[in-house]
Amino acid sequence: MLEKVEEFNMDKVIEEFERVTKDAERVQRETLKRILEDNASAEYLMSLGLNGRTDPESFKACVPIVTHKELEPYINRILDGDSSSILTGKPITTMSLSSGTTQGKPKYVPYNDELFETTVQIYHTSFAFRNREFPIRGGKALSFIYSSKQFKTKGGVLAGTATTNVFRNPGFRHAMKAIQSPCCSPDEVIFSPDYHQSLYCHLLCGLIFREEVQLVSSTFAHSLVYAFRTFEQVWEDLCGDIREGVLNSKVTVPSIRAAMSQLLKPNPELANLIHKKCMGLSNWYGLIPELFPNAKYVYGIMTGSMEPYLKKLRHYAAELPLLTSDYGSSEGWIATNVKPRLPPELATYTVLPQIGYFEFIPLKELEGTKTDPTFLCIDPKPVGLSQVKVGEEYEIVITNPAGLYRYMLGDVVKVIGFYNSTPELKFVRRSNLLLTINIDKNTENDLQIAVESASKLLAAEKLEIVDYTSHIDLSKEPGHYVIFWEISGDHASEEVLGECCNCLDKSFVDAGYTSSRKVNGIGALELRVVRRGTFQKILEHYLGLGAAVSQFKTPRCVGPTNTRVLQILCENVVKNYLSTAFN
Ligand code: AMP
Repeated sequence: MLEKVEEFNMDKVIEEFERVTKDAERVQRETLKRILEDNASAEYLMSLGLNGRTDPESFKACVPIVTHKELEPYINRILDGDSSSILTGKPITTMSLSSGTTQGKPKYVPYNDELFETTVQIYHTSFAFRNREFPIRGGKALSFIYSSKQFKTKGGVLAGTATTNVFRNPGFRHAMKAIQSPCCSPDEVIFSPDYHQSLYCHLLCGLIFREEVQLVSSTFAHSLVYAFRTFEQVWEDLCGDIREGVLNSKVTVPSIRAAMSQLLKPNPELANLIHKKCMGLSNWYGLIPELFPNAKYVYGIMTGSMEPYLKKLRHYAAELPLLTSDYGSSEGWIATNVKPRLPPELATYTVLPQIGYFEFIPLKELEGTKTDPTFLCIDPKPVGLSQVKVGEEYEIVITNPAGLYRYMLGDVVKVIGFYNSTPELKFVRRSNLLLTINIDKNTENDLQIAVESASKLLAAEKLEIVDYTSHIDLSKEPGHYVIFWEISGDHASEEVLGECCNCLDKSFVDAGYTSSRKVNGIGALELRVVRRGTFQKILEHYLGLGAAVSQFKTPRCVGPTNTRVLQILCENVVKNYLSTAFN
């Protein structure tokens, strides 16, 4: 492995990054030219009258800014088996299913080899910078990665989540060999049809190779926290398996059993050691370094909707650094983390100008329009990557090599600075407003801030919020906010939970909300506490729709059309409280 890491020329990758970021504007023009040349014969571009022009000015004049909705008719034709050049010159044969947690259902976006190439580029870039700061020589990675199934749509198109499409790409192994310590887990565990069994075996493999584990990772931080919360439940079973050298009978998938039997040998000494370590921990603080003494860091996407899991992750990781990875989506990669020493709360992502063409709509232009489905009528005026202003917030518009042109991703970012001439972004939030009844406007950040302040009251009782979401209840006049909480224990007093409810209500400081609350234009906020395991049921519901654990993001607001998730939540309510804060 040592040789393989050295094969990867870190300096060359960093040099290339310096080159493209110093000349970001020109690289953007070239990238757009390449995308438009490669796809000049696509029906979509032909119909817009580009006539082979590839400059940004003509592109912007001819091609409209769109959302997924506008592209759906084209995407549906591809899914139904129309193999002509619809969105791309070379017809699309694979689709990615994005997690779609915001809209309540997964959505399809085109995937191709060119998009895969950008994945390799971004992985190599962030690895070069990460490895410069936190060198890893050999060893193994404990990666909580799960590949969901790829399936054929009725038109014969291959579909899977973006992470699955990447993991299953024939070039993936080769591209990663140079930069990634091999996973502790065999492929049968990663590609298993059952994520419970996968997770159990990932943990088991990690323990078997505990001395060799150099890093602990997952795509999103949610999977890391989920893995170690599961460890708290199953650690004695894991020790039992290691002691006896026999895999727990709950793991039933034959291919996993066969693969694990190659690794598992009776090892009472290791079982005793792990048992002793677990018994010695106080409330599982420092679990990760205790189990994996040679791990250098914990790695995965830790910003945005993953921030609420950081507290728990830090608890498990103790002094071990938490490194956030890159910024991207099923629609394409955007930016990479080249400053891995920054804690996730301060992390920035540097835009890679050669992997897509990026435009930025100043958020001010869109303000107040998002509740209006025809908001695109306002003709937003995006600026290019080198015209963005430090300190301003923008909604990202991407043009990628897989048939998305001027596509609004639905993310808000803030420009923190420039790395050479390319912007450094902080991920702010999804762009849609979560909570709005009349003149109030609250985003997922506002909800996160409210939940964080109320959770401090719980912390005094040694309790924590496992997960949360929200809902607007308009079933009675006036409408009101409902916040659902899953809490780590059931001993919270009525008094404290009542205070939490008031604190939530008072923490929404948006003037529209407070003024409406005062005149009862918005009713008392309701806190509903749900049973342990409710959010796992939500995760399972999404997996049933084709999502992958690796890409799962808890929906932070459940709309009225998301009936199944709402039903899961409502069926599991154990207590509810109404705020008296504005009485
Ligand atoms: P999906 O396509 O399902 O993987 O979801 C992509 C979305 O995840 C993006 O549009 C972002 O909202 C979010 N996301 C991806 N990377 C990051 C990141 N580094 N920080 C915060 N949010 C992210």
